[in-house]
Amino acid sequence: MKKILVTGGAGFIGSHLCKKLLSDCNHVICLDNFFTGTRDNLKELLKNPNFEIIEHDIENPIDIQLDEIYNLACPASPPHYQFNPVKTVRTSVVGVANMLELAHKYNAKILQASTSEVYGDPLEHPQKETYWGNVNPIGMRSCYDEGKRCAETLMMDYHRQFGTDTKIVRIFNTYGPNMHPNDGRVVSNFIVQALKNEDITIYGEGNQTRSFCYVSDLVDALIKMMNSTDFIGPVNLGNPSERTILNLAELIIKKTGSKSKIIHKPLPSDDPIKRKPDITLAKSKLNWEPIVGIDQGLDSTIAYFKTKLNIL
Ligand code: NAD
Ligand code: UDP
Repeated sequence: MKKILVTGGAGFIGSHLCKKLLSDCNHVICLDNFFTGTRDNLKELLKNPNFEIIEHDIENPIDIQLDEIYNLACPASPPHYQFNPVKTVRTSVVGVANMLELAHKYNAKILQASTSEVYGDPLEHPQKETYWGNVNPIGMRSCYDEGKRCAETLMMDYHRQFGTDTKIVRIFNTYGPNMHPNDGRVVSNFIVQALKNEDITIYGEGNQTRSFCYVSDLVDALIKMMNSTDFIGPVNLGNPSERTILNLAELIIKKTGSKSKIIHKPLPSDDPIKRKPDITLAKSKLNWEPIVGIDQGLDSTIAYFKTKLNIL
């Protein structure tokens, strides 16, 4: 039985990852400061004797003997990572250095949840891992984008300098159950607004694009990456099916049968105009590609929010 640490395990992706790792008969320790994650996301796991929760902030060192670390701790939604931007930088730099020290000490593998945001507002489309990105280093999104870029640097330098067994995945927009109703990202915002028949808030004209991956596909890829040999990444993980934000809003209104109207709000600064992963590398190195389409993924996510919000 492997002993696996999942930082950020109480969050959206982390809670699904903990569940899958437990079902694969591992001992799982979820470490979280509960900034955006909740114990509610983990309640069905608590009865499993192989599951532990440690309330801890990765900004502070910790000493636990383990085999693998999935480092997911970091707020991922723009309003949450911009709430305390200095803290966001510290989480991605000091926090990642602490987790790398831990991996180094116990000869453990460590996987870093990086992001498509390392490509910024991309000038190359779709984005390949070889693209160095177009990131504003001093804007509102930089605490997250540059924090995650520095985290990648630390991962590579620990690997080259100390031989640490590191793995970098660049996650593209992922959605599904266990997103917080107040998460602030587009899929959860639109579904919650649609279910409450409130106005759907499109930022800008809605012509910007994203490519949405369902969480079960992403979790499968994270585990495949951790178990891969002789491959450290970085590797893009996401669903290449690209759509405009306006199209997403219309689809969610249709699926929920909502009476919501679409309204437009100002586009936040540095909001990327388009985003779509090139997943050729993930296909060849991990033998992985997403299998859940947008219809099936949205149906499950809408069903989750109906229950969460007590809507019949
Ligand atoms: P989330 O906000 O739901 O989860 C993040 C978790 O990390 C929360 O449980 C939060 O409480 C915890 N956390 C934050 N700062 C911490 C700290 N200093 N110490 C300990 N715990 C801390 O977000 P998510 O969507 O589940 O994202 C998980 C990871 O995946 C993040 O690192 C994020 O950057 C990355 N990612 C996610 C997406 C996506 O579309 N969901 C895309 C790219 C990258
Ligand atoms: N967005 C929107 N309305 C919302 C939330 C987000 O139009 O209520 C837009 C946002 O401006 C961006 C896209 O949807 O262009 C995706 O936003 P999200 O915060 O989900 O992720 P990210 O911008 O980090 O990809």
